[in-house]
Amino acid sequence: MTYPPVFDGHNDWLTAREPTGPTGRSFLERRAEGHLDLPRGREGGFAGGLFAVMAPARPMVNPPSRQSARKRPPSARKASAPADFVATPFAPVDRRDAQDFVIQKMADLFSQEVESGGQLKVVRSVAELKRCLRAKTLAAVIHFEGAEPIDPDLDALVVFHRAGLRSLGIAWSRPNAFGHGVSFDFPGSPDCGPGLTDAGRALVRACNELGILIDVSHLNEKGFRDVAVTSDAPLVATHSCAHALCPAPRNLTDRQIDAISASGGLIGVNFHTGFLREDGRPDPDTPLTAIVRQIDYIAGRIGIEGVALGSDFDGATMPNALGDAAGLPRLMEALRAAGYTGSALRKIAHENWLRVLGRTWKPS
Ligand code: ZN
Repeated sequence: MTYPPVFDGHNDWLTAREPTGPTGRSFLERRAEGHLDLPRGREGGFAGGLFAVMAPARPMVNPPSRQSARKRPPSARKASAPADFVATPFAPVDRRDAQDFVIQKMADLFSQEVESGGQLKVVRSVAELKRCLRAKTLAAVIHFEGAEPIDPDLDALVVFHRAGLRSLGIAWSRPNAFGHGVSFDFPGSPDCGPGLTDAGRALVRACNELGILIDVSHLNEKGFRDVAVTSDAPLVATHSCAHALCPAPRNLTDRQIDAISASGGLIGVNFHTGFLREDGRPDPDTPLTAIVRQIDYIAGRIGIEGVALGSDFDGATMPNALGDAAGLPRLMEALRAAGYTGSALRKIAHENWLRVLGRTWKPS
């Protein structure tokens, strides 16, 4: 059985990779550890995706407890300075540290691209992406998971865009100068903390102008709403699931799912078992039908146009039944068995992504 190629909304291969030393993983060699490399991608029909770069998470030093945060007077709670609000246990990251990190990771990706001799390509336009799909060249889109490397004047945004940045998550699960992320508590609501800062709204407008996709995965609900009213591009959650099926703050409420649909956007369904399961347990003993159930729910609510894939390979606990990128045909088979065939399967696998990127990026 041949299945349509998969364009995937999220992997952490680049962030997780140690380029030097014994744990170094070349993208070109097949490995047993992790979930993604070129040989396993090829085998599984992984045609490309958003390659995330995220400055490492560090715990907050002496985090104020939730209790004490609640007890603070409303005037203090309103706080416009992001660091004043504690929604997650992760510390803010210094901009220069984040810039050093993403520059090193982008250089690493570019050197893998050269080493691959044409098998891996960093893509910057939909035309390039379509060429890669036809030629079976694995297509990598540079995505920042959190806007920490961007300065408030947005000069870095312009420079990184020139270098290939085409997708940006406003915040990972920690506060930054632009907005606030959600925690990994379970169960929990994404409605925690304030919305975007003024700098965050300016960032959204600048992304619209440059043609950079804005990712709302990890962003809190007020920030999500601010993106929805500020952005003129389709709303995209690159790697999230439905909160109605798994009440993790990282998942999308029905209201958010409806807003994404109204904008012509999409949801890349995350394969992380902790976001799929009703009990929120990151348990590899989770059947592929748990992913199908999420897709059924979202497609049932907003139509097949609004649902795609956002694996979280190399950053999450995959179902054993999938294993890694080489196991994608088993997911395709589970979707086929659930009634997704022909154009429905193509839309989930890559066509919805192509449509949304086509409406978001500028031609080049
Ligand atoms: Zn993530």
